Amino acid sequence: MAHAHAGAHPEASRIVPEPPSQLPPGAESLDVWGFRDSGFEVNAAGQVAFRGSRYAISGKAIPNLLPWAEGVLGVKLDAFDRNTPHYPTAVPERVANPGFEAALAARLSPARVSSDPQLRLRHGHGHTQEDMWAIKHGALRRVPDLVVWPEDEAEVRDVLELARVHGACVVPCGGGTNVTDALRCPEDERRSIASLDLRRLNRVLWIDATNRTAQIQAGATGLEIEEQLGRHGFTLGHEPDSAEHSTLGGWIATNASGMKKNRYGNIEQLVLSVRAVTPEGDLERPPAPRESVGADPARWLIGSEGQLGIVTSASVEIFPLPAVRRFGSVLFPSFEQGFRFVFDVQRSGVVPASVRLMDNLQFQFGQALKPAKTRLAAIKSALEKLYVLRVRGFEAESMVACTLLFEGSESEVAAQERSVYRIASRHGGMQAGAENGERGYQLTFAIAYIRDFLLDHWVIAESFETSVAWSDAQALCANVKQRIWQEHAKRGLPGRPFISVRVTQLYETGVCLYFYFAFHYKGVAAPSEVFADIERAARDEILRSGGSLSHHHGVGKLRQEFLPRVFSPAALAWRRKLKQAVDPENLLGAGNG
Ligand SMILES: Cc1cc2nc3c(=O)[nH]c(=O)nc-3n(C[C@H](O)[C@H](O)[C@H](O)COP(=O)(O)OP(=O)(O)OC[C@H]3O[C@@H](n4cnc5c(N)ncnc54)[C@H](O)[C@@H]3O)c2cc1C
Repeated sequence: MAHAHAGAHPEASRIVPEPPSQLPPGAESLDVWGFRDSGFEVNAAGQVAFRGSRYAISGKAIPNLLPWAEGVLGVKLDAFDRNTPHYPTAVPERVANPGFEAALAARLSPARVSSDPQLRLRHGHGHTQEDMWAIKHGALRRVPDLVVWPEDEAEVRDVLELARVHGACVVPCGGGTNVTDALRCPEDERRSIASLDLRRLNRVLWIDATNRTAQIQAGATGLEIEEQLGRHGFTLGHEPDSAEHSTLGGWIATNASGMKKNRYGNIEQLVLSVRAVTPEGDLERPPAPRESVGADPARWLIGSEGQLGIVTSASVEIFPLPAVRRFGSVLFPSFEQGFRFVFDVQRSGVVPASVRLMDNLQFQFGQALKPAKTRLAAIKSALEKLYVLRVRGFEAESMVACTLLFEGSESEVAAQERSVYRIASRHGGMQAGAENGERGYQLTFAIAYIRDFLLDHWVIAESFETSVAWSDAQALCANVKQRIWQEHAKRGLPGRPFISVRVTQLYETGVCLYFYFAFHYKGVAAPSEVFADIERAARDEILRSGGSLSHHHGVGKLRQEFLPRVFSPAALAWRRKLKQAVDPENLLGAGNG
């Protein structure tokens, strides 16, 4: 590598990348998660299969999934017995505001303003189980009255100003992937509501290769960002499970966290400065490596859930694409041993980009999702199983798995592997190979589709998360699981609940815990409400056990009721007053946080 001569100054080198490739119209589903060409389905043989060609699991039958689910849930599942969705359920009448609409039509081209009922509906929800139930089996009482697609910051500014002049309000929308009811419209909102969709602002405006920064528009999804940066040898490294569809603006507004945060940081560390249009005017400031400038309004936008301003772009730190990317996996006899392993990995200071520890049920779930095997593969897998269970003495009902992703230079990755596997063997871990690690990591993107499939097959499911100190984490897992079992039994629900946890993020001070919860709802009255009730109880248990209100999903409307348990009255007053001060007319009217 060439070294700069003493006294030479690194020259700034700006690149303006090409725009991202365009998805064909309608590529994303409106009624379920993800791309329309992908998803779980039942094949003619009555087996679950994954359609499409995007993911490793695509085009494959998954014969063990239903039999395994039956065993776990303690109910009989008939692959052909569907609770047929009624999407789209009734879309509420529009609140018309002719003056606002005429002014928008004059400012934006007609194709960029829509009152199409299905688009209005899609912009009025995210991906909570309540959202998905409502659009398939219930109803949303209030949705945006129109959707607008600005193409630049000036248009964003003008839409907000026109809303003010004409007595309307605005809700910024990115990928619509939130899981907090953040895009739900307040039911008592009498004004016309415009959903301001930022997806057309999807460019990386520039890359500064020398200083490793980039200015990125708020509506760019993770896919679009990585495509534009990747062509020039860079990555943002922010990879939430929703990265294919969620946007930079949404990540900032929800204070998101990605799977590779150990190497690249969470969104608040990646963002150097934010440009935003607010009811008070624009927020903008050149980025600096780090600053002490008193209270910084741009920072308040992180986690602001669309309440204080509309993020139009942000400058972020970027990284060279890693030379080496290797997966790994380790099996442990028990969750306790796996947990001691992840604790020691964090304490060692040598932490791979991603470290995720699944409990036994989630490990089993991963096994049940394995596609049908060829004869040879089946024999190999039976032998491996025999070795793990008979020779190593692991128990099928208690063993757990940890998936690893290493990124960096060859020597860096090799050093990390040595350190991590040494710690693993100290805790009785057995290396289970790169293939299993990669499968586990990539499966995350396909698993995102399973919730919609299950809902159609009488299983209602949702994930929820928290962060908690190391010393409280294991007790919290046990308490939440126990509480879910109690709540499930108390209501006399069918079969058994599915409740499983994984450790997804490591910090010096603790971990992020990510739970999946599901139950069979055939014959249950108002299942979505029952689910929400139990999830509320689980959140109560999380808070009692020392967990946070949310590690990365946010508050939205779903967790608003818990705010007084995590903020003092003075802190709540600050939040209220800040909103009143910068947006006295509640122009940004989503009512979150
Ligand atoms: C399958 C799945 C997996 C997920 N995995 C993760 C994960 O790994 N990590 C994680 O952190 N989250 C995850 N989430 C949650 C979700 O993807 C994040 O909250 C994400 O940050 C939302 O981004 P979005 O662009 O979809 O925002 P939206 O859902 O469109 O909006 C969310 C909130 O942000 C506001 N907002 C959006 N854009 C702007 C803007 N430009 N300016 C101001 N406000 C704005 C909206 O008004 C709303 O209040 C997951 C969700 C799903 C469904």
